[in-house]
Amino acid sequence: MIRLELAGMHTRLHSTLCGSCPQGPTGCCASPPGVEWSDIGRIVSLGGAGWLLEQMAAGTLRPGQRGLLILRVEPQGSDGGALPKRCAFHGHEGCTIPPERRAATCNYYVCDDAFAHGGEPRGAPEALAGREAHDALVDLYGSWDLELAARIRERWPDGPPWNLDFLDWLGREVRRLASRAAPSMRVLRPGT
Ligand code: SF4
Ligand code: SF4
Repeated sequence: MIRLELAGMHTRLHSTLCGSCPQGPTGCCASPPGVEWSDIGRIVSLGGAGWLLEQMAAGTLRPGQRGLLILRVEPQGSDGGALPKRCAFHGHEGCTIPPERRAATCNYYVCDDAFAHGGEPRGAPEALAGREAHDALVDLYGSWDLELAARIRERWPDGPPWNLDFLDWLGREVRRLASRAAPSMRVLRPGT
């Protein structure tokens, strides 16, 4: 089953298949997505600038070409219960950080198997609505990342300074982009 939690740019998609993921016990979290410029701005706009700096100091997040990269951790111990290589934020009960601290992809992505399991091929309404929201979010965040990357190159040709001012700037930029995109986000709002 697919469950869609509409919340504009913070929309979440859930699949019952994830509890018994065919890819293994850590599912998608074996290969975490990048925390891209738009994700960083989203996290900052939700009050997470200090948290991001803490994670960078701890080495869980590190700068990359398109934002931040999440550390992947190796299995630990030899008790047979160790999880395979995975996102540093993944624990035995799943993701250990709240949705407002995750890359948007972590909140809205589910794989094709999950859509099929949720009834997309037979036209199950929740699966079709989920696909529509998923595709809208891919387009939205993809276009924001392109625009933010261009602005960052322009302002900081040698790469951005990873400090609070820069994070706050990204937060403001994402709020600006979200306000500009509000009319096209209608599909992502409950009751529309
Ligand atoms: S979205 Fe697909 S690959 Fe990811 S955890 Fe769920 S079932 Fe597994
Ligand atoms: S942040 Fe959470 S949901 Fe995203 S890959 Fe890591 S454990 Fe999975």
